[in-house]
Amino acid sequence: MVDVYLENVTKRFGKFVAVDRVTIKFPDSLFSVILGPSGSGKTTTLYLLAGIYKPTEGKIYFGDRDVTDLPPKDRNVGLVFQNYALYPHMTVYENIAFPLKLKKVPKRKIDEKVNELARLLGIEELLERYPSQISGGQQQRVALARALIKEPDVLLLDEPLSNLDALIRLRLRSELKRIQRKLGITAIHVTHDQVEAMSMGDIIVVFNKGKVQQIGKPQEVYNKPKNLFVAGFLGNPPANLLKGEFKESVEGPLIEIEGTYAYYDLPLNIVKVLKDNNIRDVVIGFRPENVEILFEPEDETKGLLLYGEVYTLEPLGREVIATVSLANGALIKIILPPKLSEIKVGDLVYVNVPNDYVM
Ligand code: ATP
Repeated sequence: MVDVYLENVTKRFGKFVAVDRVTIKFPDSLFSVILGPSGSGKTTTLYLLAGIYKPTEGKIYFGDRDVTDLPPKDRNVGLVFQNYALYPHMTVYENIAFPLKLKKVPKRKIDEKVNELARLLGIEELLERYPSQISGGQQQRVALARALIKEPDVLLLDEPLSNLDALIRLRLRSELKRIQRKLGITAIHVTHDQVEAMSMGDIIVVFNKGKVQQIGKPQEVYNKPKNLFVAGFLGNPPANLLKGEFKESVEGPLIEIEGTYAYYDLPLNIVKVLKDNNIRDVVIGFRPENVEILFEPEDETKGLLLYGEVYTLEPLGREVIATVSLANGALIKIILPPKLSEIKVGDLVYVNVPNDYVM
């Protein structure tokens, strides 16, 4: 069990920079998730960790060990891919046993380990079958058992759940996490699915265009996004982002959003930062769930106040997603509890975002 450390790692394919000066510490025994859109460099990073690719620049350490130049077989990593990659002509038992057979581990010891992992993963009944005779979810459990049997220092998972149907995905998600905890293994999981990242990750590393955008606990990355990319990528619907201008009016400092009625009584610390740095153009953001709907603003209403017309309502059972159209044409998404059913399309409403939730 080790920390895994990428130090200023770059990977180029010809002129194309797939991973750009990336420095990350994946902590020992935790479940880290690399999250990002397609093409952001997630898989390339995982392959660099596995030793399938060599960095163009930079260093990779497992604990104190510099593994930058080591081939995959000398890194002691377990790999699980999206497409299971089981050997079709071998039974489940033989598939799981294969890495130990290669190492010439005695038969009795192999038998013990295969049975132990099959129990842990709930696939004892399937050991005599061939991969074509089991479901996708079961195949992925077998692939996981095969990766774990070598007792790797690091478990690397490349979108292992994305070929599975929604229910199985949900189940395997929590099981994968349980097994990782139980074994205390350092796991690094790649996904483009933000819900998967939020629910599984102890740490989330957000990637875009080959660069790290933010590293943090799920709640940190969600509530305190470091930049517009992270704010716009996480959340469903993601954060609302509106362009505004910082002004000092007779009523005090405020942010004006052009072409619409909006009022934001800025907290003093933010006013200071804006003034000290002479910033005028700002982007103001808020999460769809952190709003209140008002038909009339109250005197003591604090925070960001927007006025608009309810444009669409999407009842989803547990919540209703409302789109509100502002006078400047911008559409914002907000989440409402279903009991606020008196709201209708066409209603004119105030949307209030309390100061603590303005990003
Ligand atoms: P996805 O979720 O679609 O798998 P990703 O974030 O894992 O995306 P990577 O597979 O790491 O992205 O690819 C990052 C970029 O590097 C992409 O633009 C891809 O086309 C490019 N790339 C990856 N592998 C190679 C290669 N062997 N040769 C050339 N370009 C490559």
